Amino acid sequence: MFDFLSKLWRLTLPYRGRLILGILFGVIAGVMEAALVIVIYVVFAAVFPTDGGAQVEAELTRLQPYAPDLVAFFRAQLAGFAQTPSTAAVVLLVSLIPLTMLARGVVGYLNAYLLNWVAVRTLGDLRARLLDHLLHLPLRMVQKFGTGELMSRLTSDVGALHNALAASFVSLVKDPVAIVAFLVVLLVKFQSLTLTALLVFPVCVVPVVIYARKLRKATERLQSDAAEVSQTMHQALSGVWLVKAYNLESTVIGDFMRRIAGYNSRWMRATRASEIPGPLIEVAATVGLAIMLGAVALRSGSRGSATEFMAFVMAIILSYQRVRSLIKLQNLLIQARAASRRVFELLETPSDLTDPPAPKPVPAGHIDVHFDRVSFSYDGKPAVEGIDLLIPAGKMVALVGPSGAGKSTLASLLLRFHDPQQGAVRLGGIDLRELAQKPLRDRMAVVSQDVVIFHDTIRYNIALGRPGATEAEIIAAAQHAHAHEFITAKPEGYDTVVGERGAALSGGQRQRIAIARALLRNAPILILDEATSALDTESERAVQAALDTLMVGRTTLCIAHRLSTIQRADLIVVLEHGRIADRGTHEELISRKGLYRRLFELQFGEPSPS
Ligand code: ADP
Repeated sequence: MFDFLSKLWRLTLPYRGRLILGILFGVIAGVMEAALVIVIYVVFAAVFPTDGGAQVEAELTRLQPYAPDLVAFFRAQLAGFAQTPSTAAVVLLVSLIPLTMLARGVVGYLNAYLLNWVAVRTLGDLRARLLDHLLHLPLRMVQKFGTGELMSRLTSDVGALHNALAASFVSLVKDPVAIVAFLVVLLVKFQSLTLTALLVFPVCVVPVVIYARKLRKATERLQSDAAEVSQTMHQALSGVWLVKAYNLESTVIGDFMRRIAGYNSRWMRATRASEIPGPLIEVAATVGLAIMLGAVALRSGSRGSATEFMAFVMAIILSYQRVRSLIKLQNLLIQARAASRRVFELLETPSDLTDPPAPKPVPAGHIDVHFDRVSFSYDGKPAVEGIDLLIPAGKMVALVGPSGAGKSTLASLLLRFHDPQQGAVRLGGIDLRELAQKPLRDRMAVVSQDVVIFHDTIRYNIALGRPGATEAEIIAAAQHAHAHEFITAKPEGYDTVVGERGAALSGGQRQRIAIARALLRNAPILILDEATSALDTESERAVQAALDTLMVGRTTLCIAHRLSTIQRADLIVVLEHGRIADRGTHEELISRKGLYRRLFELQFGEPSPS
């Protein structure tokens, strides 16, 4: 049950000092709870001596052998107090109660403050570690989880964990200490009354146990229901274009409402399980109190002192509050455990793409790329098979072929998003698996047809190519990418914030931003995934000119769709069903009248005789 607490405990390591201080204040706060009752009891007994005087006297006699001087002092004080209480003594005595209250408040505050301080930082760190871990997982694994699911784990699960911890850290220390302190006071001071009260106790435990089980079941599903809700929300918002175009609003809302309804009913089940035991215990406790009052009233002879009985009831009520908060804590811990399971599951997902223990340095300068008899399948379904392809340093190879032929798979193998099951991808003769991933990707630039633009300024989006680039370098890259003109034509120039996914830019402009980014990166290996959609002639020309600048001297793998790119390639490789069907220059392939010629005619019409 508590292994997740030990995992969290390990996360608090950087904040151990404050944590321990907070726990210490928690212990003091717990003891203060019981001390308050004692102080009130003593003050009442002194103010109403007829009622409690005998008890105080008995206590003092009991304590005499241990601290004779102190007892003598108190005796003198009490005697004086009973006869002619001086104003000073009265003020001193009665102010004991507010002073104790003040001390209890300050200690309780410090306890809550310090532990919250630690909790919020620990959970912040956990979020950062989660995001870091996710970003280092292989792309395929991240995609398998789904963005909505991941968002939900990062926000709502960590949030649930945070709420639970912030509250539980505080009562985890204070409440058990307070309960023990109360038990000591009760057993020492009000022995017979307490023993009677303890008879009621087992009756109170039964509902707690029953409802804790119900709660655990409900909360475990609650978090995954929440994830489904956020997944639906995420899909609806990220696909808002489709939703509007296909009039899917009511379908999406209907789906969403169904999930919300499932979540709601689970939530109410959890609420019932966490709210019912409290009142049940309260009723049971008051029944116990009524029985005891009745017994006192019916007892023949002395009924004992009212002050004592009042102090007893107060101790019971205050300690009950602590028990109740401990039950709440148990509920919170159950919720936190469910949330933490989902969080730690992510954190413990190992990456199957790891760096070797002693990575080789990535070759400098121009590098060739060799797909050395590479085969790769997604979950057993072959995507590329026996690919043997050398891209000499500084040359450009264009991949063509029908959709699903394996072009993107080859590009992602080069980026080492996956490792091939057979063969190896080599960079300057070295297997990618012998290199560390970061320096490897530092040597690559990607321009993909689905240009990713972050919701930020144009400057920021270009600088992503090489974080830390100077303004002059950014502008130079934009100029070479034929993007400078359209950027400066915007009223805010490089400071223009481009909307989510670059909504404020045209297709051609987005591509030129991506090309500027790749230029800024200045990497020797270039991976191009050209846009399939046709651009208008002017844009096409600008993008092509930008690409030409970009490709100079770089080893380029291009998933080619444009006529101009194909004709400029040093080698064209035709892929079909994951295998190389043909290779050669444009002219050679056209003259062979094979798949390439058919594809070419489909896209561009009859080739002109050259
Ligand atoms: P292309 O880029 O030529 O259109 P891909 O490389 O995308 O082809 O796909 C090659 C094959 O691999 C296809 O059959 C496709 O369905 C499959 N495939 C691609 N990506 C994945 C993936 N993430 N999971 C499972 N199968 C995939």
